[in-house]
Amino acid sequence: MMFYTFNQNNTGGAFDLTEALTHFVIVEAESADEANAKLIALGGYFDGCSIGRDCWCCGDRWYPAREGEGSDAPEVYDRHPRDYDAGEYSKRWMPAGKEIVVHHEGKPAEWF
Ligand SMILES: [Zn+2]
Repeated sequence: MMFYTFNQNNTGGAFDLTEALTHFVIVEAESADEANAKLIALGGYFDGCSIGRDCWCCGDRWYPAREGEGSDAPEVYDRHPRDYDAGEYSKRWMPAGKEIVVHHEGKPAEWF
């Protein structure tokens, strides 16, 4: 299994923050296709601009993972989620400890 990181774009000036989704959503999967399907099952979607859901000037909210992008462990910008510093920008948007979620296969989600 690999881990695929989705970096949510706050299109239209807002993030989708749910019980499953936040700024960085990391999904454990066998392939990029499976990770993309899992993101959709969690409430994500792709091609938001073409379907009229996302702001055309900000761009799509979610971009599909591609083969080759997976990593052996959960990562945000090459760091383990616990070592990632969201910085002031993200702290304005996400509650503390809700910047990153890791959806493991067969285990409860882990938040950072
Ligand atoms: Zn816009």
